Amino acid sequence: MNAVTDFPGVPVNGLSVDVEDWFQVGAFETVVAREAWEGLECRVEANCERVLELFAAHGIKATFFTLGWIAERYPATIEAIAAQGHEVASHGWDHKRVFTLNPSSFADDLRRTRETLEGITGQPVTGYRAPSFSIDARNPWAHEVLVEHGYRYSSSVAPVAHDHYGWPEAPRFAFRPVAGSPLIEIPVTTAEVAGRRFAAGGGGFFRVLPYALSRWAIRQVNAREGRPAVFYFHPWEVDPEQPRVAGAPLRSRLRHYTNLSRMHGKLERLLGEFRWGRMDALALREAALVA
Ligand SMILES: [Zn+2]
Repeated sequence: MNAVTDFPGVPVNGLSVDVEDWFQVGAFETVVAREAWEGLECRVEANCERVLELFAAHGIKATFFTLGWIAERYPATIEAIAAQGHEVASHGWDHKRVFTLNPSSFADDLRRTRETLEGITGQPVTGYRAPSFSIDARNPWAHEVLVEHGYRYSSSVAPVAHDHYGWPEAPRFAFRPVAGSPLIEIPVTTAEVAGRRFAAGGGGFFRVLPYALSRWAIRQVNAREGRPAVFYFHPWEVDPEQPRVAGAPLRSRLRHYTNLSRMHGKLERLLGEFRWGRMDALALREAALVA
């Protein structure tokens, strides 16, 4: 079977990495306190290195949505990401979900993170991804704050029903969340089957279920709908040796630890079989299409 890249006119998809460590994921929030982070083994440097090698091998540039907390502690890693031609964008300071903040504390979180990232790379931060896709029907003010802070795009909405996140009524593809502003929201990819939406842009869908399902879903979006997909993963997902978090809910542990050893191979296929690029470039193309 031909790879999707063999066909002309196939969209370039957005590839993104959410730069956070194994103990910072939303699913472990109840068992790993933020105050404990400092004492835990940080594996993000080595894992980012693996991800950078993977992208270099495929000649792909991507976007790294990075926590300020990580950037402040591991600036050399962020420098390396930027030096290799990837986009460094914001994932907030310490993974607080946006609907737990208010407009003022969200603005502070954005400002502090951006200053840290720009101070390291010397390049402007124009994109934002909310921790755990935490912009939804509860906090429409969040997009307005992003406009006030000059962001060009956000990729913070999961337009699907999910146990940890989701805004099922949101559009599946790029839209302007604040009328009259240039900000574009580019939701993470979903597939539609018989009128039902499925999260298909990474996470458990990609790592836990067979690769063929992700491949099918992204093909549907690219070839049948003619639209770009947005895919995300985390550095800890290519690290089968990471420490295990005790006491987390069973469902979270299953989702977090299943198939870690297969992830690298799956990513190899995904990168080889579709076209991928930075999110800021995708945002520019989408902004030209969206009224
Ligand atoms: Zn995250």
